[in-house]
Amino acid sequence: MNEKELILTSLLDCRRVDIYTNPSCLTIFQERIFQDILKRRQDGEPLQYLLGETEFMGLPFHVNPDVLIPRPETELLVQSILFLYREQTCSVKIADLGTGSGNIAVSLAKNINSAKIKAIDISPAALNVARNNAKRNGVADSINFTRQDIFKFFNDNNSFRSYDLIVSNPPYISQQGMRQLPRDVKHEPVIALYGGDDGLEFYYELINGAAQLLKDSGILALEIGEDQRIAIAEMFAVQKETFFLHFIKDFAGRDRVAIAQKAPVTMKEKIANLDNKLKQ
Ligand code: GLN
Repeated sequence: MNEKELILTSLLDCRRVDIYTNPSCLTIFQERIFQDILKRRQDGEPLQYLLGETEFMGLPFHVNPDVLIPRPETELLVQSILFLYREQTCSVKIADLGTGSGNIAVSLAKNINSAKIKAIDISPAALNVARNNAKRNGVADSINFTRQDIFKFFNDNNSFRSYDLIVSNPPYISQQGMRQLPRDVKHEPVIALYGGDDGLEFYYELINGAAQLLKDSGILALEIGEDQRIAIAEMFAVQKETFFLHFIKDFAGRDRVAIAQKAPVTMKEKIANLDNKLKQ
């Protein structure tokens, strides 16, 4: 469906067939709403915000301007994790840091039966959206949503070596990148996008923190910006805990996901083989 059809069918209850065969199917009132929505779209508001809806990993998600709109690159991150944990039967303790709309936590909970997830975000408004999405997809019992800053999460000594998996799609746009955002993206929350001067602020914290909070052989799974591979590989290299690190490319050949297993490394082949499996 094109954008016009989506707006008319989702928001104004039009039947798709009427859009072309019965152009006067809208009341004057509906026509006014339609023109208003069209105007907002022309001003660059993302369609997903106008519809209040999007799809991620085949599941429905509510979205509004308090949360980042889930992206296809992030599906690659979730699919990588699912491939590694698909056959897992014993409980998997997961942390999703910067959960936003809850798309990562909800789709992991939906696909890994034994998942116990802690999902944090600094924004109470984002957590409301995420909680709704967990309910909507029937996985509210598997996810504990907590308002917390990523930096504070790593200072919690009780969590020392307690997670099997830490996943994050952190804000990673640099100061310079923020000045060149596409028009639609300017409508998304700055706190979900801005990753400090160089865009890498959260990765320092995530890599050092995960070394402390992951169990032996635990996995850190990160989405990264397309030009960040070298900088991120360097951060892993200076980290004193040993990680086996592998980057996964998207279909356009850009490195978009980093998967790292803490020592002792037990899944080397499986991780290195992810690219092939995901593109089959
Ligand atoms: N976890 C959410 C997503 O992947 C939000 C990420 C963020 O706000 N940076 O879309």
